[in-house]
Amino acid sequence: MEESVSHLLYYADASLREFRARVVAERVTERGPAVRLNQTAFYPTSGGQPHDTGTLENVPVVDVWEEDDGAIWHLLESELPLSSDQEEVTGRINWARRFDHMQQHTGQHLLSAAFVEVWDAPTVGFHLGSEACTIDLEIPNLTWEAAFRVEDEVNRVVWENRPVTVQFVSQAEIAEIPLRKPPAVEGQIRVVWVKGYDASACGGTHVGHTGEVGLIKITGLERYKGGMRVAFRCGARALLDYRRALRLLQEVSTDLSIAEDELPEAIERIQAEAKVTHSALRDVQVTLADCEADRLWHAAPEQAGMRQVVAHWEDRAFDQVRATASRLCEHPATLALLAVTTEKGVRLVCARSDDLGEVDAVAILREALDALGGRGGGAPAMAQGGAPVSPADAILGALHQALPT
Ligand SMILES: [Zn+2]
Repeated sequence: MEESVSHLLYYADASLREFRARVVAERVTERGPAVRLNQTAFYPTSGGQPHDTGTLENVPVVDVWEEDDGAIWHLLESELPLSSDQEEVTGRINWARRFDHMQQHTGQHLLSAAFVEVWDAPTVGFHLGSEACTIDLEIPNLTWEAAFRVEDEVNRVVWENRPVTVQFVSQAEIAEIPLRKPPAVEGQIRVVWVKGYDASACGGTHVGHTGEVGLIKITGLERYKGGMRVAFRCGARALLDYRRALRLLQEVSTDLSIAEDELPEAIERIQAEAKVTHSALRDVQVTLADCEADRLWHAAPEQAGMRQVVAHWEDRAFDQVRATASRLCEHPATLALLAVTTEKGVRLVCARSDDLGEVDAVAILREALDALGGRGGGAPAMAQGGAPVSPADAILGALHQALPT
């Protein structure tokens, strides 16, 4: 008997975890050595479902794919350790991954069928991701309330524990079967039945009874290409997601010392309070900047027919320094040359009052910046710039050096 390469053991029994097979072809790909077997329980990537992983003779299988001729290739982490007279190898499926895919994939059949049942919304796309799974529905809009009705329906079907069976049907017979979606392949067609609820042409892996899916939870709704994309998690993924969400909620509740059910209202209150506090703080900052500007102005010396105010800070935002400069120059015959040291460097602003038309703030600023190795520009009445960090006395020295005499 020569190998029937497309004989997929998973077709017959999706619960097969270990099998024996003969290696019928080997090759070296860019990603490593690959083998073909006379039969395999490894599922190759297809139909929106990722491939299985596992081992062949304890060598990790890292990818499985099917080629156009129906041949299934297993990419190995390293060469198989075969003795010269060895005919068969042992394959083992990574069962946690396989069962997870069975739960998600069967859950998808049920969810798609429930969306037809409740809202007459057909599924046009499916993706089994490493975290969430999605289906794309032909439905213009879907609210959470509408999605919850489907969730109730589909979990009822899960808990009824209906048998999930596989039937091979010829092209001629297929018309007799009430398929939810027409088959994408020709020849023998594999139909997956959920007893009394759904029939779909599908080559993927599924559980034997709907109860094994455990739970189906819709986790996201978004508009997508004129329809809706629905994210969901089944079985162990739903449990893990519930665990994660509950832990987050409990942490927030503990941190804020607020009961879980009171959180939405409390957060709204906290946000409103923060807004009021923020606004009050701004008012205080403005008043403080005004007071400081007045104090600086009165203390500043007169030179070259103007009051020259020089200052350097290390503890405030540049916006605040600029506001102080503007406030200072509301006084007549005033020049302000101010600096602040921030994490990114030294920032300078030079401003003068409107009545000092002959004084160029840009020229004064640049002279100070030249001494500090920086750059800047602006208008004759106000200019700003930056330089690398320097010691405070060097900055003050550069500012004083640039003042008109
Ligand atoms: Zn399927």
